[in-house]
Amino acid sequence: DSLKKTVVDAIEEYEDFPKPGIKFLDIFSVYRSKPAHEAFSLLLERYAVSVKNSIDAVVGLDSRGFLIGPLIARTIGKPFVPIRKKGKLPGPCHTVKYSLEYGTAEMEIQTTALQKNANVLVVDDLLATGGTLEAACKLIKSCECNVFTCWVAIELVALEGRKLVSSPVESLLQL
Ligand code: IMP
Repeated sequence: DSLKKTVVDAIEEYEDFPKPGIKFLDIFSVYRSKPAHEAFSLLLERYAVSVKNSIDAVVGLDSRGFLIGPLIARTIGKPFVPIRKKGKLPGPCHTVKYSLEYGTAEMEIQTTALQKNANVLVVDDLLATGGTLEAACKLIKSCECNVFTCWVAIELVALEGRKLVSSPVESLLQL
């Protein structure tokens, strides 16, 4: 609809970032545009209301998931919990190692951040290969919780990243 178009039109693309041959879509360009920021916020609120009765908590991924997750959580009065790159969160954490295009990375969640058996909505800005979302799903399962859905603002459909994710995936924009 027209709200989505307003958002899409504001997304800026950068060639050869962060590496040659990679095209980078910059969600921050949405936040620079007053109409796009407003349209995006409305779409997030609309989605939040639609999942309110199905979820107990929202988990956002470091770092652009922190733009999206708290707005969804606040809209429906649910807790927001971060997943961060290793070494950033205080206290006991569950850790997951996952592979990137070159090498590996690690992400963490605080062991007591989610209540056991919670239904969790996982949010991030963009789905590419799916490795990051799948690692997040593993962390949620380490907390003995259930991933209700992974939600991303932008899905790079040609990369078929959702195939790598063992939980349901929903995307606002398919680019
Ligand atoms: P994946 O693990 O390959 O699916 O990559 C997804 C993760 O990398 C997300 O946390 C994204 O924020 C980040 N990412 C990958 N490509 C882009 C991009 O084009 N724009 C913004 N973030 C990206």
